[in-house]
Amino acid sequence: MASDLKPSLPYPNSSLSYWHRTTRSFPLLNSNDTAPVPEESAYVIIGAGLTGALTAFSLLEAGIKGSDILIIEAREVVSGSTGRNAGHCRPDGFRNFNGYAARHGKEQALKIANMEDRNFSLAKEFINKHHIACEFTTTKTFDVCFSDETAEDESKNLNEYIAAGGRADAVQVYEGEKAREATGFEGATAAYEWNAAFLHPVKLAHWVLETAAGRGVRLWTHCPVTSISAGEKGKWVLQTPRGSIASKKVIHCTNSHAGVLLPQISVGDLVPIRGQVHALVPSRAHSGHRRIEASLALRTSLRNFYAVIQTAGDGTIIFTVARSTGVTFDETSYDEEVAKEAQERFQTFFPPGVEASSLHGEGLDHAWTGLLAFTPDKVPYVGEIPELPGQYICAGFNGHGISNIFAVVSGLVKLIQGGTWEETSLPECFGYSAERLKSRV
Ligand SMILES: Cc1cc2nc3c(=O)[nH]c(=O)nc-3n(C[C@H](O)[C@H](O)[C@H](O)COP(=O)(O)OP(=O)(O)OC[C@H]3O[C@@H](n4cnc5c(N)ncnc54)[C@H](O)[C@@H]3O)c2cc1C
Repeated sequence: MASDLKPSLPYPNSSLSYWHRTTRSFPLLNSNDTAPVPEESAYVIIGAGLTGALTAFSLLEAGIKGSDILIIEAREVVSGSTGRNAGHCRPDGFRNFNGYAARHGKEQALKIANMEDRNFSLAKEFINKHHIACEFTTTKTFDVCFSDETAEDESKNLNEYIAAGGRADAVQVYEGEKAREATGFEGATAAYEWNAAFLHPVKLAHWVLETAAGRGVRLWTHCPVTSISAGEKGKWVLQTPRGSIASKKVIHCTNSHAGVLLPQISVGDLVPIRGQVHALVPSRAHSGHRRIEASLALRTSLRNFYAVIQTAGDGTIIFTVARSTGVTFDETSYDEEVAKEAQERFQTFFPPGVEASSLHGEGLDHAWTGLLAFTPDKVPYVGEIPELPGQYICAGFNGHGISNIFAVVSGLVKLIQGGTWEETSLPECFGYSAERLKSRV
């Protein structure tokens, strides 16, 4: 990691993703982008990604008046990771069981896996209940192992998870020839199949923001919060380029940028890992009835995998090179070498065969980057910041937010309302504390 890297506000000139490019007509995209900020709000949510949007929605559901909630966003809405991700909603706590168990103990590791399952149910229920047009598609997902080390790692994780009491009846395991038959990949040495989903994450977040705004929540964009200080009568004062806001409850949903306003969180506590995603227009070999229906993690080594979905909307293939392409806050451009690798890998994994076509307009359409907020102990920071009463944090999803945020935000809102940690049903290791930052290894 670049040791001189300091926490940074989001870059105002960040690039647009495929998800952004397909939702430019959203009416609230640049809501209140020149107006002075309200002088006061009972609740201020900083960050209009999925975490901030769902926090506002859940506060409304808990009975808080919309006019008491202000969401303030540095750029256009959903301009951060929610708008830059790979589109998977994939509960896979069992897959990282050993890593979680080594850091937090087996009981916590089991809680994390259970929470991801619960998150999947919550996401599904929420989207179905509200008929949200976000291309949410439930599907089979496969982890496909292309090396002995990845197959061994996957098997060890699943076995330890089951031995600790984890439920894995929904996970199908295929080895050798069976893996090749189940997945169609020639080089597969093992495959793991379970239920997951994919979606258009920006359409989901836009729906939540629009619905919250329709119920009175105020939304300010292109207005970064630059500092927070203690004001009068137990209120915090948030500074922005368009005025200051006084509030008793401030909720930091700022992802990898949290350290700008919370200096106790250094870049080492919340590491901005840049990932790169590609939108490919499929040829005849992968369009129409030949589209790729499952979601995939193609695991070539322990440090590297390629994630694939094909969107339900227009059939674009979202191909993610799932490894760090840099530790930086810069998501303004993409790396051409990585884009070349993505295209070559796609061709290797999905050879076109007899249905080959090469029409103008097919192939790589777009590439973009986004920041995955990694924590040293691989779980998010959630809850009140004890040294700053009335301020809360919900950040650091380690590249896995869509598989956490529904469950985590429901717990966070209980805490904001004065509930206990037990009432959140979240793993205790998610709790924010100064000690947790100090114990960083
Ligand atoms: C390349 C990539 C692929 C990913 N793929 C997946 C996936 O397939 N499945 C999955 O589960 N997860 C995935 N993730 C992770 C997931 O996208 C995130 O965990 C999740 O979107 C985090 O949501 P959030 O609302 O907490 O953060 P964000 O969406 O980043 O929102 C934070 C917002 O806060 C704003 N902000 C920050 N600082 C300030 C400030 N001072 N003032 C005002 N506003 C501020 C930002 O502009 C931003 O809009 C991926 C992430 C990336 C980058």
